[in-house]
Amino acid sequence: MALTEYNRKRDFDDTPEPEGRSNTDNVELIFVVQRHDARQLHFDFRLELEGVFKSWAVPKGPSMNPADKRLAVMVEDHPLDYADFEGEIPEGNYGAGSVEIWDHGTWSPDAKFKNPSEAIRKGLIEFTLHGKILKGEFALVELKNSTTKNGWLLIKGRDRYAVDEKYNADEVRVSAR
Ligand code: MN
Repeated sequence: MALTEYNRKRDFDDTPEPEGRSNTDNVELIFVVQRHDARQLHFDFRLELEGVFKSWAVPKGPSMNPADKRLAVMVEDHPLDYADFEGEIPEGNYGAGSVEIWDHGTWSPDAKFKNPSEAIRKGLIEFTLHGKILKGEFALVELKNSTTKNGWLLIKGRDRYAVDEKYNADEVRVSAR
């Protein structure tokens, strides 16, 4: 059900992206961040939950600096098969442009969020990322009463992984594989 919009937006005869089916086999929840050089460069931030990826498009990309509040626009759920997807989405298709994996790993919701799906529905979730680039505490906070439709903020928590300097996701060249 959650992938209806994902499938509707795509022609799988024409895009190399995976077809949407949900999958609840993983023991640990995974996350992936894809650099998507489409009409406008952005980073797609995806958290596994209930067999799909909850997904946000982050125009400036994630930051390890807690002072940055990065706009994250919630988009349609994606299939977990998307975790491995890299490549070119041909012209004329939804999201045409190139996709590369920027970071990936596992994540866990903060223990106080007993029901992470409900937390996301209510517009606040705090969690820990175990990635190659993104590590430690983060929060996603929905912008209520905002003109930005589906707008959220992705914010790094203050912990030992946080940095003070200016952070440009596009300059981070650590291999995420
Ligand atoms: Mn995208």
